[in-house]
Amino acid sequence: MKKREQKSESILVFGAHSDDFVIGAGGTVAKYSKEGKNVIAIAFSFGEKSHAWLKESVVQKMRAEEAFEASDLLGCKVYFFDLREGHFIEDYKEKNIEQKILNLIKATKPNKIFTHSHEDPHPDHKASYQITMKLYDKIKYKKPEVFIYSVWNPVSFKTQHPALYVDISKTFFLKLKALKAFRSQKIHVAYPLLLLLFRAVIEGFKIRKKFAEKFFRIK
Ligand SMILES: [Zn+2]
Repeated sequence: MKKREQKSESILVFGAHSDDFVIGAGGTVAKYSKEGKNVIAIAFSFGEKSHAWLKESVVQKMRAEEAFEASDLLGCKVYFFDLREGHFIEDYKEKNIEQKILNLIKATKPNKIFTHSHEDPHPDHKASYQITMKLYDKIKYKKPEVFIYSVWNPVSFKTQHPALYVDISKTFFLKLKALKAFRSQKIHVAYPLLLLLFRAVIEGFKIRKKFAEKFFRIK
C-alpha cells in the first residue's frame, strides 16, 4: 500500500537553464526517482549564452541532448520552454507558456515543486522564481509544497524559511555524472565540481550523512 502511494507522488523541478535542475537538485531528483516518484524537470530556456559563434538552433539541439542524457541518468523527464535569456517574463506572457505549464501541473498534480531562490542574482534565475510563484498562485487543487535551491550562490543564512535536507549519499555521484553530460557548459571543469562536493559534504555533515542537498521551504 505504501509503495503504491509513493508511486503516485509527482515532483516538479523548475530551472532557468538546461543544467540548473541538476546543479541545484540533481541528487534529490535521482533519489526521488529511485523511490518510484514521478520527477519532471522544466527548463525555461536552453542554456547560458556562451556560444556566439554557433547558430542558435545548433546550441539548442546540443543543450537539449545534454539535458536528455542527464535526465536519463537521474531518472526524470525534462521539458523545454524556449524562453529567450534576458526576456523570460516577456516571453512567458507572449508565448502563453503559463497555460501549458498549468496543464502539466493539472495532469501531474505535484506535491512538491523546486525552483530557484529569490536571492539568486542571475536575472533569469530570479525570473524563474517569479514565474514559479505566479504559477503557484494559480494552482486550484491542493497546493504543493514549494522549495528553493541554490545554483552557485547559496541562500543566505538569515532566511526564516525551514530547511529541508535530503540525504543524497547514494545519488551524489550520479549527480556528478549527470553534470558531466553538459559538455558545452564547462561545469565539468574542476572548480564547480569541487564547490558542489564541498557543499554536499557540509550539508551532509548537518544530518550525519555522507552527502546532502539543502533546500528551503517557502510555501
Ligand atoms: Zn542557470
